[in-house]
Amino acid sequence: MAVNTANPLQAPEPATDGRPRFDLERAKAAVRELLIAVGEDPDREGLLDTPKRVAKMYRELFAGLEQDPADHLARTFDEQYDEIVILRDIQFSSTCEHHLLPFIGTAHVAYLPSSKVVGLSKLARTVRTFARRPQVQERLTAQVADALMEHLDAAGAMVVIESQHMCMKVRGVNDPESTMVTSVVRGVFRDNYAARSEAMSLLNRR
Ligand code: ZN
Repeated sequence: MAVNTANPLQAPEPATDGRPRFDLERAKAAVRELLIAVGEDPDREGLLDTPKRVAKMYRELFAGLEQDPADHLARTFDEQYDEIVILRDIQFSSTCEHHLLPFIGTAHVAYLPSSKVVGLSKLARTVRTFARRPQVQERLTAQVADALMEHLDAAGAMVVIESQHMCMKVRGVNDPESTMVTSVVRGVFRDNYAARSEAMSLLNRR
């Protein structure tokens, strides 16, 4: 078993070729249009730079659209290690695709290697690449688990994500304290109760 704690939020890696590119000018125009739509004057001094600033912010928040998580998981090393590998407390921020408001939290990732092992930082990068897209937490959780199964040929994967959704804090139900928890199990963790409870207890250990 290997347990480690991830680094704080990191800037995403540069875009790989062949993926969609962020259209900064179009995003600027859309923000300006939104300001007009809410009844503001985008030409007043305080708002002059806002379209550019917000467009650049979205370019950063959605940088994962231009990246392929398979790139992070491609550099594996062969290791005869058949115990559970766990990376806990991976901090991430993502954007709820329903409201375009942030949800921020931690991901805990476990997998059971078959033959391929990756560096722990790649697990964190995989989470953050998927997080830096318009998302829902359920899909984010499943995408990370599926990527481990697919690109590492893992025997099993388990991902637990806990996060706070701004769209629940600042609007709608206005529930500032709620935490959303999602978990996804794949492979042996789904089929084998003993393996699942071992991974679950390691993920939950404090
Ligand atoms: Zn939302």
